Amino acid sequence: MNTQGPWELVFGKNGKEEEFVVYAPDDGTICRGDDEMVGFRDNARLIAAAPELLEALEACSEGLECVANTEGQSGCNHCIARTALAKAKGEVLNK
Ligand SMILES: [Zn+2]
Repeated sequence: MNTQGPWELVFGKNGKEEEFVVYAPDDGTICRGDDEMVGFRDNARLIAAAPELLEALEACSEGLECVANTEGQSGCNHCIARTALAKAKGEVLNK
């Protein structure tokens, strides 16, 4: 299970603008990176938002039912959400 959010994103700690750290609520470090990372500012924001995104997707997908003829078919919001949640949780989907 992932560390409880919200996670805090801090750019420029110790005066180094090209670095970031993502902190857990208890000040534990989730990850750190720098401008060697592709799209580092945007991707750092995405990483830091992960707990809220996970919670939001779980809430939004509640009650959704598969509308595809075949489970796992692209274009079905239920299956898109289910696939993303499985990826986030390290689960393997049985199709
Ligand atoms: Zn579906």
